[in-house]
Amino acid sequence: MKTIKGIKRLKTALKDARAQGKSVGFVPTMGYLHEGHLSLVKASLKKTDCTVVSVFVNPTQFGPKEDFKKYPRDLERDSQLLENLGVDFLFCPDPVEMYPADFKTYVEVEELQDVWEGRSRPGHFRGVSTVVLKLFNIVQPDVAFFGQKDAQQAILLKKMVDDLNLSVRIEVLPTVREEDGLALSSRNVYLTPEQRKAATCLSRSLDEATQMIRSGERRSALIMDQMREVIEGEDLAKLDYIAVVDMDSLEAVNEIKRGVLIALAVFFGNIRLIDNIMISEEE
Ligand code: AMP
Repeated sequence: MKTIKGIKRLKTALKDARAQGKSVGFVPTMGYLHEGHLSLVKASLKKTDCTVVSVFVNPTQFGPKEDFKKYPRDLERDSQLLENLGVDFLFCPDPVEMYPADFKTYVEVEELQDVWEGRSRPGHFRGVSTVVLKLFNIVQPDVAFFGQKDAQQAILLKKMVDDLNLSVRIEVLPTVREEDGLALSSRNVYLTPEQRKAATCLSRSLDEATQMIRSGERRSALIMDQMREVIEGEDLAKLDYIAVVDMDSLEAVNEIKRGVLIALAVFFGNIRLIDNIMISEEE
């Protein structure tokens, strides 16, 4: 594996790979890698000839009161994990090269960026879409791999790719979970043992929703009530939002008629966790 910091150097290296007729797969991450990230890396290794993983804690997607400085980092460990899997390039750009002092251009995916996660984290998706477009332009991947765990992010990035006529294909892969259902997240390391125990309420509330839908319930309000009850059953959990929404528009649906996304965000102290499920038409 080659570890590359410079944008130009990576571009040159990938030009060579492409000249050899290799397809390029790309997995953007903020590092502190876990099995969720690695599932994306493994998919890229399987489906493409040359896999690039970026590790970049992107400052523009964090709000002023968020955990940018405290976000967990361990590049040495990440590098070892990626090397063991057989990744071709680890790209860890310098924040100053990514965002020089005179940086002025941002990408906004209107409406999709303002709801749910966007409402709770103003400016977050503007930072995400800007950095992902920059990374796409640098890497020029054939395929880029994202996790279902960040469902709104994946929906928004697909829209950006469509709207801006990018040639990359986006693949979204299932959420990887701990045995007790908690979705893997770099932020889980912040949880105290008590919060960690309580944190299963996210997946438990989603299981409850799935059960209700399977037994014929179609009213979103009742499903959300039941989910809220599960969250409120944990003293350490504070609900941010529950969303039962259309998979494309992210607009709330009252009656579940077709595929929907059920997503939620919950605070444990100042640690904020998210989770979601897609309910397909067959459920
Ligand atoms: P992050 O490092 O948090 O920016 O995440 C990088 C990529 O990994 C994103 O596409 C995430 O959706 C994905 N990801 C994070 N957690 C999981 C998980 N538990 N299962 C699958 N993918 C994940």
